[in-house]
Amino acid sequence: MLRAAARRALATFVGCKAPLPTPAAAVGAQPWASSRRTMATAPDTSAGDDGGDAASFGLTEDQREFRAMAAQFAQNELAPHSARWDAERHFPVDVLREAASLGLGAITCREEHGGTGLGRLDAAVLFEALAYGDVSFTAYLTIHNMCCSVIDRFGTDAQRAHFLPALSRMDRLASYCLTEPNSGSDAASLATSARRVAGTSDYALTGAKAFISGAGVSDVYLVMARTEGGITCFLVERDAPGLNFGKPEHKLGWNLQPTCAVTMEDVRVPEANVVGTEGQGFKIAMAALDGGRVNIGACSVGGAHFALDQARAYAKDRKQFGKPLEGFQATQFALADMATSLQASRLMVRHAAAALDAGHVGGTGQAAMAKRFATDACFEVANRALQVHGGYGYLRDYPVERVMRDLRVHSILEGTNEIMRVIIARQMQENKI
Ligand SMILES: Cc1cc2nc3c(=O)[nH]c(=O)nc-3n(C[C@H](O)[C@H](O)[C@H](O)COP(=O)(O)OP(=O)(O)OC[C@H]3O[C@@H](n4cnc5c(N)ncnc54)[C@H](O)[C@@H]3O)c2cc1C
Repeated sequence: MLRAAARRALATFVGCKAPLPTPAAAVGAQPWASSRRTMATAPDTSAGDDGGDAASFGLTEDQREFRAMAAQFAQNELAPHSARWDAERHFPVDVLREAASLGLGAITCREEHGGTGLGRLDAAVLFEALAYGDVSFTAYLTIHNMCCSVIDRFGTDAQRAHFLPALSRMDRLASYCLTEPNSGSDAASLATSARRVAGTSDYALTGAKAFISGAGVSDVYLVMARTEGGITCFLVERDAPGLNFGKPEHKLGWNLQPTCAVTMEDVRVPEANVVGTEGQGFKIAMAALDGGRVNIGACSVGGAHFALDQARAYAKDRKQFGKPLEGFQATQFALADMATSLQASRLMVRHAAAALDAGHVGGTGQAAMAKRFATDACFEVANRALQVHGGYGYLRDYPVERVMRDLRVHSILEGTNEIMRVIIARQMQENKI
């Protein structure tokens, strides 16, 4: 159910209650519509009481309402700027804060400290709608939300009160620090150490983290480090002496957000910043990723939906051999397969989100299956959307190549899709799925 804070934000944002466009209807309004070739009219989605919009089918009234809010935010505040943000590698912190003002900064956190108090299924619906406008923006938002939800779920009252109000407004941003140069898929082998400082209750953290999304800009770092009692989760603040950041990595996609190495040299962290108990860090890190994987899957669905709509519009408009591309059965079958993959991905993501909401014993396996399937299938949808565009799809004048680039990394991060298979197989052996 949509909570009070989100409802208030929604009312402010939607304001006039003007009819909200379906994502498909937004196609013709894209700034790139004017470039090189004119985009055709958006696909007709007028059938049925939800406008033929499969993304809304089966949702509660509340979920439809805030999905519409997120879709409108994506259309107005994200899509018009996506191409520039990607080209200029611009991290739009101001727009993240606008999103947070709608209740999107700490979606699943309790309301007491500024969270929106929604569930994982609600969050998946929201992230899908946002990613339709910008995959990379939404993907960073999911990571920030994941950090907030760790503090909300495993932190102390004092930590919640100290960190969550500013994080939920996104006045402060958060990053998740698990991967290291020599510890990727084998995350439990991490080498960053946290030793007790004699005569104090502090820890001193030393080590290096790799590929950290938001690093350098984020204010709060959720760091997994090895203590005497096992892997432990720490909240490290950006101004801590000894905390340093590498140069932003040059990447294929996700260019809107910085990805950097994080190094720690005897970074003092008070005991009060330990999340959970000493030795509980790996469990916390993995629990966070269950939700993270569903969220990344939702981002893939949103991006693929956008790419498919672009391909549909292009196939209607572009003529070869005297007729529109959509007149060829090969194109029709391609679009049909893409739509089928998209819908299967959406259903798996939402099912896994519901399993996590319900605390189902197989939630981890469902999340891994959804992430594995949706990220691969949706990348393929974007890749085929590019193919439908022919040579034009390869040009930056058209947005499909950016979506394809942005979606590629979803098969790699938050656990590679090979590691998802390892998790699924283990859960099967344990009869959890
Ligand atoms: C843009 C970007 C942003 C990221 N953001 C973050 C972040 O914010 N925080 C964070 O902590 N990390 C982040 N990561 C890191 C990401 O989670 C890791 O890259 C990922 O977990 C894989 O680790 P690796 O790159 O070391 O690959 P490796 O573990 O070296 O794997 C290399 C290949 O071997 C395969 N492989 C490894 N082990 C097995 C096995 N047992 N069975 C079968 N195949 C196997 C892998 O699937 C992969 O194909 C990010 C990465 C990228 C690219």
